[in-house]
Amino acid sequence: MTADKISLVFPCYNEEETIELLYKEIVVTINEMPEKFEIIFVDDHSADRTREILKSMSEKDPRVKYFRLNKNSGSHTAIFAGLSNCTGDAAIVMAADLQDPPRFIPELIEQWRSGSKVVWGVRNSSPGIPSEIYYTAIKWFTAIKVPPMGTCLFLADRMAINALTSSPEKHTSVFMLLAWLGFDSSSITYHKDDRVAGTSKWTLDAKIKMFVDTMLAFSDMPIRYMSILGIGTAIGGILCSFAMVANFLMRGQTMPGWMMVLAAVLFVGGIQMTMLGLLGEYLWRTYDESRRRPRYVIESNSDS
Ligand code: UDP
Ligand code: MG
Repeated sequence: MTADKISLVFPCYNEEETIELLYKEIVVTINEMPEKFEIIFVDDHSADRTREILKSMSEKDPRVKYFRLNKNSGSHTAIFAGLSNCTGDAAIVMAADLQDPPRFIPELIEQWRSGSKVVWGVRNSSPGIPSEIYYTAIKWFTAIKVPPMGTCLFLADRMAINALTSSPEKHTSVFMLLAWLGFDSSSITYHKDDRVAGTSKWTLDAKIKMFVDTMLAFSDMPIRYMSILGIGTAIGGILCSFAMVANFLMRGQTMPGWMMVLAAVLFVGGIQMTMLGLLGEYLWRTYDESRRRPRYVIESNSDS
């Protein structure tokens, strides 16, 4: 039986201070293991010495491959590029700053061997306030199950890699898309270490963009809420009108003019919101179709 091949995929952007340390840790871990490995670094158009370091690494170690993107595209695009170009039976995606320690590689592979198509690395500590808001919004506004503390690393089986990379959408989160695919998954818990050097490359702008991308790609809740709010508002307007008519019929009292204006505003505003929600439903469906996500993935058949 030939040994399984595992691809390790690392997105890197200006990681000259960490990459050699990372490589040393990877090698210490994988040299002890029976599997074959390829180590893929995706250089997200770094402006520092990352490219030179990766070039010399790949010349010395045939397991190392690197791909450089033509412009800085964000870590999710870099991960996507790495997964599209890997050849392993499974791939492990980790950050290149040693916050996701390579010592967890054997544990991820063990879970994969037990049958999981996806293995999430789940942090045992808070990811920080912005990420907590992000994961809470995912929990409330989407139907997708991601680990509650979020996840920064994962293993994906070849079947999951193929399904993921066959989806050509751009404005998305690789992690959410993998969760959306819904393969049998398990998780390992790990402690996210501090960065060994350098600073976070995720700017506030990038975080806001990821938040908006995730909500628009995986949640139709805002549109649903708009319709529900619109219907509620219109009903409020109708109730107001009923109250005015009843008051007139039973007590002979006419209501002040502003009450009539209020009833009309609520009713018309509510109808408009409902219509906008309805248009939004069409728009969301068109957008959803245009993403061309796989409709289904055949996990096994009578020949396998
Ligand atoms: N990264 C990337 N492109 C970017 C930003 C980040 O490839 O535009 C990489 C980065 O080099 C690291 C990983 O994505 O390997 C996670 O980024 P970072 O450590 O800066 O994020 P944080 O840990 O703060 O979430
Ligand atoms: Mg980091």
